[in-house]
Amino acid sequence: MSPGSDQAPRGGIDLGGTKIQTVVVDADNQVLGQARRPTPTEGGPEDVAKEMVATMNEAAEAASVNAGELGGVGVGSPGDADENTGVVSDARNLPNWMDPFPLGERLSGQLGVPVKVGNDVQVAVQGEFELGAAKDFDTILGVWWGTGVGGGLILEGKPWLGRGAAAEIGHVVVKMGGPRCTCGRKGCMEAYAGRMAMEIKARKEVKKGAKTDLFKIMEERGRDRLTSGVWERALKHGDDLATRLMDRAVKALGAGVASCVNVIDPEAVIIGGGLGVRMGEKYVRRIAARMHPHLFVDDRPPEIRLAGLGDLGGAIGAALLVDSRVPTPAT
Ligand SMILES: [Zn+2]
Repeated sequence: MSPGSDQAPRGGIDLGGTKIQTVVVDADNQVLGQARRPTPTEGGPEDVAKEMVATMNEAAEAASVNAGELGGVGVGSPGDADENTGVVSDARNLPNWMDPFPLGERLSGQLGVPVKVGNDVQVAVQGEFELGAAKDFDTILGVWWGTGVGGGLILEGKPWLGRGAAAEIGHVVVKMGGPRCTCGRKGCMEAYAGRMAMEIKARKEVKKGAKTDLFKIMEERGRDRLTSGVWERALKHGDDLATRLMDRAVKALGAGVASCVNVIDPEAVIIGGGLGVRMGEKYVRRIAARMHPHLFVDDRPPEIRLAGLGDLGGAIGAALLVDSRVPTPAT
């Protein structure tokens, strides 16, 4: 197999605030090897890039290929990722990564293969569209429920990026003058439903005297934040505060996502992201029920589905960025 040929295995990197997940896939997008490492929490973009290269090499080794033989590597990146230049800026949950950094160029130089960089949520949604839960549809809205609430749009088969900031559904306003969002504005859907916002709210409630096991579970698991797994455990135990905050999140998701549906009228809504995948089918149904009262045309709601590619979805979707058979967004 020669590098760059359509048949060569490709690499995919999902760069998250907590972990770097890499895969090597074959021409049919079957996973040949994968690796995962924690994202550096100190240093800066150079350190993160170095760790990404190491994680990519590890996946290549697991797939018994040399990283230099890959047909290319795609990256799903948080922050403001420029698809054309591979430059990433404003990645708030990565260490000291506010200024533009030429991520694509740096990785390409170290791996010795072409690298394409895209938005993390958009590439994950593209993965679901090509290979996962949205295979049967042409127009979809992806709702990536995790640390924040991200979104991805595919209209009539093509990714819609707008002028680069489309589908920021987390910042749809669900309550005028509502709680402060992590973006600094007020009343955004993310201010209720983002994992980070929910944790801030939980800490505030505890300060005011609310009883909860959330932070006890967090400590038992050796975590320093309320991960999806911590929420799941607390909910299973019927924890009062966890239940209350999760109900509030689901309600906000219902209003916000339904409002987006009223604008786009997609065939399907795909729920993914760390919390989305962890909470699973039951919560997809709950969100659908909470959307219903807000749907303008409520007798034919879109299909609401759980993302189907699971934990590797972001990395597999990233690998599609370097698949010459997949349409790339026109920017
Ligand atoms: Zn916001």
